[in-house]
Amino acid sequence: MTKGFSGKCLCGAVSYQSTSDPMLSAHCYCVDCRKTSGTGHGTHVVTKQDSASITGQLAAYDHPADSGNVVSRNFCPTCGSPIYSTNSAMPGMIFFRASSLDDLEIIQPAMAVYTDRAPSWDIRDDKLTSFAEGATGGPEKVIAELD
Ligand SMILES: [Zn+2]
Ligand SMILES: [Zn+2]
Repeated sequence: MTKGFSGKCLCGAVSYQSTSDPMLSAHCYCVDCRKTSGTGHGTHVVTKQDSASITGQLAAYDHPADSGNVVSRNFCPTCGSPIYSTNSAMPGMIFFRASSLDDLEIIQPAMAVYTDRAPSWDIRDDKLTSFAEGATGGPEKVIAELD
């Protein structure tokens, strides 16, 4: 049975609900995720956009990734908490930041991308399916095949 999941920002102005369970959870060590995370990587919780509903006002920052795909990062303009991102290469998918989950224990990260960019001091799990970079045929393909 699907339980779904929920989350919110630090100040509580933004919250969300997903009616479906996470399809995948993954660590990303790219520069953009690192700079918006407060540590060496971001952890993303992937689900379908149409199963998610978001309450509250978000600000967005669109930035092209190395691949040329545009990643739109949505965050709370009041407290700055990252909430979710979307990727032009993966329409229909939404990537919530694990940091915003109400229950952190609902996920089990299974994949890591851009691991070549991880700082030496950040914790890495070598048992995960890992991609040195994030090129097409890597994570995009894995995520597309979840559908
Ligand atoms: Zn907030
Ligand atoms: Zn990233």
